[in-house]
Amino acid sequence: MAQERILVIGGGVAGMQAAAALREEGFSPLIIERSSKTGGHVAQWDRLFPTQAPAQAVIDELSAASQGIESVTDCEITSLTAADGGVTAVSAGGDRYEGRAAVVATGFDLFDARLKEEYGYGMYENVITSAELEQMFRDGRVAMKSGEAPKRVAILHCVGSRDEKVGQNHCSKVCCITGIKQAIELTEAVPGVQVTNFYMDLRAFGNGYEELYRKSQVENGVTYIRGRISEAGETQDKRIQLKVEDTLVGRPLRMTVDMLVLLVGMRAPGCCSSFGLETQANGFFAPRDPYTGTVASSVPGVYLAGTATGPKTIGETINEAVAVARRIKRDLGE
Ligand SMILES: Cc1cc2nc3c(=O)[nH]c(=O)nc-3n(C[C@H](O)[C@H](O)[C@H](O)COP(=O)(O)OP(=O)(O)OC[C@H]3O[C@@H](n4cnc5c(N)ncnc54)[C@H](O)[C@@H]3O)c2cc1C
Ligand code: SF4
Repeated sequence: MAQERILVIGGGVAGMQAAAALREEGFSPLIIERSSKTGGHVAQWDRLFPTQAPAQAVIDELSAASQGIESVTDCEITSLTAADGGVTAVSAGGDRYEGRAAVVATGFDLFDARLKEEYGYGMYENVITSAELEQMFRDGRVAMKSGEAPKRVAILHCVGSRDEKVGQNHCSKVCCITGIKQAIELTEAVPGVQVTNFYMDLRAFGNGYEELYRKSQVENGVTYIRGRISEAGETQDKRIQLKVEDTLVGRPLRMTVDMLVLLVGMRAPGCCSSFGLETQANGFFAPRDPYTGTVASSVPGVYLAGTATGPKTIGETINEAVAVARRIKRDLGE
């Protein structure tokens, strides 16, 4: 059988797994990645929920599975056209790539926390995002800008998710459990630190998540307050003063912490509006059918995998990436 070329746009865990599975199905995949290396967001995380396994272990396994597969890096695809018998992807620099079909595995972008001015991100030095906290864990050093270890940390849920004001109405699904995991890891990294999570609803939906939520309270002493921070301000000694409405007891609350962590949500990347595929209300690509066609797009020959269609865990992403290869094999009648 002639090996047909399948374009895999995006080299995160979805793209790496899809390419490996496509090769197993007898195709010749080409990964096209906009950054300088593959791995996507997972390559930026430290330890993963629910087991606290190292993110690097996932990347290493997928790198081994996709070893030898052709890839192009530093190449952002900006347009995609499907015609009878093939798909053409064109990069920002004008390079053209042709394939018999394409898998769009372009993932998500992190919400820009600067858009929520009331939390002071970008203005106050001890307001950071959950992605920046992952980097601190990776560096093995959780510290305030001054270099001191924080004694009190607040973690704020739903930043740039479930928020009409910034046009992001969807739930980003993985940030509640990320907030629980990061609270536990903070207590492990900084002995004696007090961590408080502020949430609207706690969505601990997956296997082992509820247990992790319970462990964080019983074993790690993490506190949870149902409420929204209405405003963050900076004190003279660069600590962060929070105004909160505790929505369970219906009382306003003030608290000063050394560090505020914003659990930023997932938003649809720019390519969702430039690839000519149908999108959902949340901006992510729309699957052809939510039950039987989750990895097919609205356009024949163009397929979808991972968080390109909305927030997902790594496990869900990997499963879709395997499924997409099988679906392509079936559709192309190989
Ligand atoms: C703070 C945080 C922590 C998380 N922690 C966990 C965890 O502990 N456990 C867990 O199961 N899940 C976790 N997740 C979810 C996990 O990150 C996702 O499931 C995973 O990243 C999805 O992989 P993906 O390949 O679909 O997308 P991505 O990781 O976003 O990868 C997409 C890739 O496509 C590339 N790309 C995008 N557009 C283009 C283009 N136009 N042309 C070429 N390339 C392009 C990008 O550069 C990127 O490399 C976390 C998420 C967040 C936000
Ligand atoms: S998963 Fe939790 S923190 Fe994330 S948007 Fe949904 S409710 Fe908010």
